[in-house]
Amino acid sequence: MKIWKLGLILLLLLGCSSKKEIPFNTKEITVYQQNDFNLDQLIEGDASHFACAPIDFSQPGQQNITCHDSTQEYKDTTLKVTVVDQMAPEIKLTHSRIQLPIGSTYHLEQYIDQAIDEVDGDLTQQVTYVDTINAQKAGTYEVIYTVSDRSGNTGSASLVVDITTFYDEYFDASVLKPEMVEDPNDIHVLVNKTHALSSDYEPKDLTLVYQSQDVYLRQEAAQAYKEFVLAANQQGITVIPFSGYRSYSLQTRLYHNYLDRNGPLYTVSLSAYPGRSEHQLGLAIDISDTWNDPLNASLGQRALGQFIKNEAYRFGFILRYQKDTTAITNYAYEPWHIRYVGKEMAKEIHDRQITLEQYYE
Ligand SMILES: [Zn+2]
Repeated sequence: MKIWKLGLILLLLLGCSSKKEIPFNTKEITVYQQNDFNLDQLIEGDASHFACAPIDFSQPGQQNITCHDSTQEYKDTTLKVTVVDQMAPEIKLTHSRIQLPIGSTYHLEQYIDQAIDEVDGDLTQQVTYVDTINAQKAGTYEVIYTVSDRSGNTGSASLVVDITTFYDEYFDASVLKPEMVEDPNDIHVLVNKTHALSSDYEPKDLTLVYQSQDVYLRQEAAQAYKEFVLAANQQGITVIPFSGYRSYSLQTRLYHNYLDRNGPLYTVSLSAYPGRSEHQLGLAIDISDTWNDPLNASLGQRALGQFIKNEAYRFGFILRYQKDTTAITNYAYEPWHIRYVGKEMAKEIHDRQITLEQYYE
């Protein structure tokens, strides 16, 4: 009885060991990510009845995984897998550009939001940077933050730091190196103290605006402006256009006139440095309901100010410099300055209650 049982077990064992291994083309493979592992490419013919244990992508280096044949024709077979991590960690900063007063102390680590690596996880604590800022000297500096993962992949992120003079909360943009606008003809474009137009940019389709002798906008904006005025008039609101397109040279004269007559605080809070004005785009217009001190903050409380705030977006305009957004736009409240961005974008900016700067964040 005992011998018979032993014989049966021996027979079973022999039967098992006589099975062959799964006929992989190769038993040593290198993978970089999940999609790289494909059994069809390791075997001639139908691979559907083979399955392998999962590869642990969080462990770069060699690992053995066992593969199994559900039809039991082949015995379990081991593959030698080398996992290679080629993904660089990603650094997120709290800002891409900041302005600091001349002579101020600063802490560059505070602008690190997080650093995440797909394999190694959170690397925020390992982020390093090289400080090239001279806080005593006005200008634009770039700080590069870097971090490497265990496999030596390095990720980086850049922070542009402007060292400049502040007047109240408003910084002087004249000493900064701006980012040049790529496509000034795009009606959605962002122009501000750090995003500039070249001195020779002039729109090709300037059109005299409705009820004016000397105020121009680009054609599309001029048409939208006319519809805006007609709608305001229907509600008994008067709209007078004061300033639309302004050339680079006109902006240069205006800026320096303001500086001479009104000083730097007034100038940097209300007047754009040449090349940084939306008026050069031919998409911005200053309007009022009176000839008597027309461009005054009190406009915001009157019917036209309210109409701009609540209705201008329906015609593709946004109120560019709002009362509570001076920290973002770095200009004072200008209830008279509207900017054409097209109906779709204007509606989104209005509905989300944001600025053009925030739209591009
Ligand atoms: Zn304006």
